[in-house]
Amino acid sequence: MQGFEPGVPTPIEGISVRVQRILGRNPGPMTGPGTNSYLIGDNRLCLLDPGPINPDQFDSFMAAIGDHKLEYILATHTHGDHSPGAARIREETGAELVGLPAPEGIAQDKSFQPDRSWVDGDEIDCGEYTVRLVHTPGHVSNHLCYYLVGEGLLFTGDHVLQGTTSVILPPDGDMGSYLDSLKRLLDLELRYLAPGHGGVMDKPYDEIEYLIAHRLKREAKVLAGLEKLGECSIDELVLTVYDDVAEHLIPWAKKTLLAHLIKLERDNRIVSTALGYKIA
Ligand SMILES: [Zn+2]
Repeated sequence: MQGFEPGVPTPIEGISVRVQRILGRNPGPMTGPGTNSYLIGDNRLCLLDPGPINPDQFDSFMAAIGDHKLEYILATHTHGDHSPGAARIREETGAELVGLPAPEGIAQDKSFQPDRSWVDGDEIDCGEYTVRLVHTPGHVSNHLCYYLVGEGLLFTGDHVLQGTTSVILPPDGDMGSYLDSLKRLLDLELRYLAPGHGGVMDKPYDEIEYLIAHRLKREAKVLAGLEKLGECSIDELVLTVYDDVAEHLIPWAKKTLLAHLIKLERDNRIVSTALGYKIA
């Protein structure tokens, strides 16, 4: 990311609580510039999404923490690019793990084991600031956003990304839940979204409305495709519904298409057949 050096804490401007963004050393096709970690607070600290295991990044975190007390390690979810770094930092600092345990599925970090059960609405009081858990299933079932109370800043993990859209992989990924989780965010008082990948966004409602509209537009295209093709397989349907997507991305598009189809079947708009799917 332009202006961001991996491992170097960079303060987020415009809020009164100190929040430093620390870019990961893991750029790639699925992680963009790398995973964003966030160090919250002045004295009693929280570290959000420590990312994958990386000794250099571990040293960067310890340097940023310095003589202060790391009280909590917050995980938005347990994908391999978000939570595995937590174990070592916890060992070193004694910080408590916050998040939901890994569900079944690929690329899940089973080493992430919080000591207690956290639920939606729980608040972490660090004196100078409070962070609230907002359960946002969709990208994965155990996804949490973290709301910095009074500042209008929401750490969005992989629920809302900057410059790209989230991957929804069934069966744990769920398009219906994803849309519901996006709509829920509109009830929060928001000024900034701090994503798991990419830069901080300062038009939160526009971003969220865009994502909802984008998914609903695709859903309409799924229905139109089935109207046009009649009963058909997912392999046929994907080429019609994702005619705007490069060929090498079609396997990914197919997974997202499946997420749409599962939602539409649950909504009684379509039915699955021996061949594939058709309009209900
Ligand atoms: Zn993820």
